[in-house]
Amino acid sequence: MDNNCIYCGNKIKGRIDKRFCDNQCRNAWHNSNPNRSESFIKGINKILRKNRSVLRFASPEGKTTVRKDFLLDLGFDFNYFTNTYKTKNKNIYHFCYDYGYLKLEDEKVLIVKWQKYM
Ligand SMILES: [Zn+2]
Repeated sequence: MDNNCIYCGNKIKGRIDKRFCDNQCRNAWHNSNPNRSESFIKGINKILRKNRSVLRFASPEGKTTVRKDFLLDLGFDFNYFTNTYKTKNKNIYHFCYDYGYLKLEDEKVLIVKWQKYM
């Protein structure tokens, strides 16, 4: 099945569940009609929830090191997160609700669960 960008109509490379070629088309489509705001927000929430479930699946105990590719294969989208947490050592964790990750060397990622002190 062909998969074309909803905004510009170009063929989309990559994952078949993508609706836009890139964030530029996504934003342009969104801005072209304010009534679409709601579905735009819903779309982002869906990505965030998906990201959270991928992190949870990859690290049920809440602290595991995995390869970045492993998360990508499960459909993780590194462009979307809900908040960040910066440690004293200036490491920045990106969170999707209560699960977060820290990018490590060698294309690896440390997954953590949100802690009360964060
Ligand atoms: Zn496009």
